[in-house]
Amino acid sequence: MIRLALHGGAGDLAVDQTDTTEQRAALRRIAEAGRAMLQAGASAVDAVEQVVALLEECPLFNAGVGAVLNRDGQPELDAAIMSGMDRACGAVTGIMRAKSPVRLARAVMERSPHVMFMGTGAEALNRELGLEEVTPDYFVTEARFHQLKRAHELGLIGLDHDDALKSGAETDSAAFGTVGAVARDAHGHLAAATSTGGLTNKHPGRIGDTPIIGAGTFADDRSAAVSCTGTGESFIRSGFGFEIHARMSYCGWTLERACCEGLEEVRRLGGRGGSIAIDHEGYLDLSFNSAAMFRAWVAADGIVRVAVGENDVD
Ligand code: ASP
Repeated sequence: MIRLALHGGAGDLAVDQTDTTEQRAALRRIAEAGRAMLQAGASAVDAVEQVVALLEECPLFNAGVGAVLNRDGQPELDAAIMSGMDRACGAVTGIMRAKSPVRLARAVMERSPHVMFMGTGAEALNRELGLEEVTPDYFVTEARFHQLKRAHELGLIGLDHDDALKSGAETDSAAFGTVGAVARDAHGHLAAATSTGGLTNKHPGRIGDTPIIGAGTFADDRSAAVSCTGTGESFIRSGFGFEIHARMSYCGWTLERACCEGLEEVRRLGGRGGSIAIDHEGYLDLSFNSAAMFRAWVAADGIVRVAVGENDVD
């Protein structure tokens, strides 16, 4: 049985007062594309890479085009991908010139002898491997300038979906977040991928949980595939992704219990956010401790469902 889940970020958004029609439509369209790939026999790694690359191209989310800006007004993008079959993985940080951070992360995984590359080295590899290059302005949207200005005024470093960072009606419809996907393919293999611009107004050079294997991104066929969104520092400190694997493997916990306890630990460490996770049997867990997490998934009946708040499933 194939399964897929994707997220478009978490935050403290007033769900009832925000129009999320566009984000919901984008999540549905991209989930349907991923489902079609898996139904046609694509591997879990291919599916999560493609789903995340499509989310990066969509300006409604905090990854690729439309990513949030750092304190100096620059995009600095992070991404990672992991295969549950063999724990192969690749990660990149501080990207400004590689068109698709997640495709570069996959190239790191499969076409380099290493696991993680930063900024300039990552971009040199992108060029060497013939992947698409862009200039930093490719990623920058007007809405992000307003959001950064607002963050400067408020002195905040924040999650993208936090209401406090919205700068007015014209940007409300463009409330967006980090993106990620987890999948189980027809052979029972799992994979996870995550891509982000990080936190609005972050210090230049700051790296969050997204590209840290075992924190924001993790996959192992024996347990689960996990992609996180939220306060990256707390997800790193809790070792979130690996903790889910460890609780399931060593303690025999269910995915649901492991994710619930994992998020409780994130909360204890002062963080907010959520995770999408899938276990080796295809069971999904989409938990969050913020007001909202943009998410879509292929349910057991094969239908794509979309939700933002606690109980607003379409
Ligand atoms: N987890 C991301 C980071 O800390 C941010 C997010 O999920 O919105 O970089």
